[in-house]
Amino acid sequence: MIRILIVEDEKPIADLLDMSLTAAGYTCDCLMSGTAAADAVGEKRYDLILLDVMLPGIDGFELMEYLAPLGIPVIFITARSAVKDKIRGLKLGADDYIVKPFEIAELLARVETVLRRCRRTDGTITVGDVTVDTQSRVVTKAGEVVPLTAKEYALLLLFLQNRNIALFRETIYERVWENDYMGDSRTVDLHVQRLRKKLGWQERITAVYKVGYRLEVRE
Ligand code: CA
Repeated sequence: MIRILIVEDEKPIADLLDMSLTAAGYTCDCLMSGTAAADAVGEKRYDLILLDVMLPGIDGFELMEYLAPLGIPVIFITARSAVKDKIRGLKLGADDYIVKPFEIAELLARVETVLRRCRRTDGTITVGDVTVDTQSRVVTKAGEVVPLTAKEYALLLLFLQNRNIALFRETIYERVWENDYMGDSRTVDLHVQRLRKKLGWQERITAVYKVGYRLEVRE
């Protein structure tokens, strides 16, 4: 399932985007403001964001600065056709730019292109001699398959999505076990130890005092 977030404050346009993309087989969420969008990306995984520039509150460019480090592909959708806005959007890390009014066929083609491009590069994640194929969920170390349990795999992906960031045990537990944290620190510690051992990452996954763990990637 490919999930697209539409951030557009003009309801007729948001509805048109939603209808067209849903008809094309995508799952869409529509939000009217940058603030709501910033909250949503923290809660759900999106494969692509269609982002209007002129929004109430935080505008599309400001939101893009927040989104860029998250690595979610973004296509700007705006009535502004000025070249400088287009350049600004792309410089901020947007993957494409569509000027309103647009043809639905053009929109779908651009969405497909960006998704294909991003999937290809995001399909495998490599850190040192460890490679994760996120399509097949196969993890290899120096070419040898490393069998991981579902929780170990989820834990690995969480670390890879948050490189060099200290993760609280509570956050790890809630993301991997999808349950409220009731002080289950031993569960987290045990899985981290097993993942370290299987990947030879004793040095890479470091314990952070009073916080939890951090995946160190300096390359
Ligand atoms: Ca707008």
